[in-house]
Amino acid sequence: MKTSKYSKLVNLVNGLDNRKYLVLKEAIEKRDSVKFVARLLNNSSQDICCPHCKSYKLQKWGVRNDMQRYKCKECRRTFNALTGTPLAKLRKKGRWLSYAECLKNGLTIRDAAARCGVHKNTSFRWRHRFLKNAICIKPDKLSGIVEINEKVFAWSDKGSKKLKRNARKRGFKSSIQIPVKDKVFTLYCRDRSKNSYDKILSGFSANVLQREICGLITNDTLLCSQSKQVYIKYARQSKVRHGVLDLSSKEIVKKDILHIQNVKSYIRKLEIWMERFHGVATKYLNNYLSWFRELDEFDYKIDSKTILIRAMKADRYNTNHYR
Ligand SMILES: [Zn+2]
Repeated sequence: MKTSKYSKLVNLVNGLDNRKYLVLKEAIEKRDSVKFVARLLNNSSQDICCPHCKSYKLQKWGVRNDMQRYKCKECRRTFNALTGTPLAKLRKKGRWLSYAECLKNGLTIRDAAARCGVHKNTSFRWRHRFLKNAICIKPDKLSGIVEINEKVFAWSDKGSKKLKRNARKRGFKSSIQIPVKDKVFTLYCRDRSKNSYDKILSGFSANVLQREICGLITNDTLLCSQSKQVYIKYARQSKVRHGVLDLSSKEIVKKDILHIQNVKSYIRKLEIWMERFHGVATKYLNNYLSWFRELDEFDYKIDSKTILIRAMKADRYNTNHYR
């Protein structure tokens, strides 16, 4: 833009009435936030490789929608830092950081939508895309003393248009009241380095544990649990050293080191955190468990930029789902 034209523009801005000035200010802020997010994403992908053939032989290939594009010298295809990631094809970049902030604060889908000025369906889609990294990344092995405990949820069809069972009148005050067919067993393991693992189990037996957490607890660890037959049998079958706390005598700590206070505290915090959602559909339960695990991993101090960058880096090189 020529200097004379620019001066005219400045004069025009100075002459705007308050309402028009606010509209202009909002448009500039929106543009700034889009550029800020795009710069953050571009700068966080220095080690980028081709999502199609995994080659590092790339050349820069212009900028589109504020994102740097690359062309692969091997397969000749073009892409940007978001191609093949959960954030690909999502719109309204300028609001992503605000949305990540909502995730950090555990806002519901509706509240996050209102806060970011997006439709609730968008809020729903963004939540699951942003959490993809947390869902994918779980420790595959725990070490040292490993505490183990379970929690039972009642099966929930929240959000479904048709219920396949009769509606419950009052819910359940404790897991004992939940009918067996409605029980959803979730397992939690935590080692003393604060690595946490959670899993929705297909049942609650030693064989299920052996099958579904295979390799997580090796025989150089010391498993610590309450004296439940499931854990005792699982430890025996897996040949894992096992410290048992006597459930009947309400034993809390044994030999000064054997306890399950860490994993119990983790589950308690999860329960408190989940209260805000007023029930979670079972089909999305894993997302919520993963979301909480990510918050816990950062000691509940994860910042919105980290959430965004982690979401971008999830599945970067092994999926085409999001293209
Ligand atoms: Zn390539």
